[in-house]
Amino acid sequence: MPSFGLQHVTQAIISSFREEEFEVSLEKLQSIFPDATIVAALDLVDRGNVIKYTTAWGRCHYEVLGSTATYTVFPSLFPSTSVSSYCTCPAFAFSVLMAESHLMCKHVLASCLAEQLSRCVERPISDEELVAKMAGNVY
Ligand SMILES: [Zn+2]
Repeated sequence: MPSFGLQHVTQAIISSFREEEFEVSLEKLQSIFPDATIVAALDLVDRGNVIKYTTAWGRCHYEVLGSTATYTVFPSLFPSTSVSSYCTCPAFAFSVLMAESHLMCKHVLASCLAEQLSRCVERPISDEELVAKMAGNVY
């Protein structure tokens, strides 16, 4: 089960990720994530599939375009809880929440890395549109 300590290590590793120190940064990531997850996440970042919607209030909403669907990602909810992120994809529900075999899915990792590397595709969004988006995810 992901522990509080591991969440902190994960945050620290992601926030120390540097493109100019790619090899070293990658090695650190490999110490906590499977290669497949890292490769998939970096691929999503490279393709510009991490969309960051920002309202005039400065509230952010992340979406990741997956191969079959678009997922809503909450990269960091409450740092003090064991689940510090959330994604609407099936893999997150199964591997992270139910089996507790993974810390996060590739979409959450992609969002964190895109944010860290300033590689999010940023789009402005109105509060009404954001509410509509959130509502659209509830069914
Ligand atoms: Zn996901």
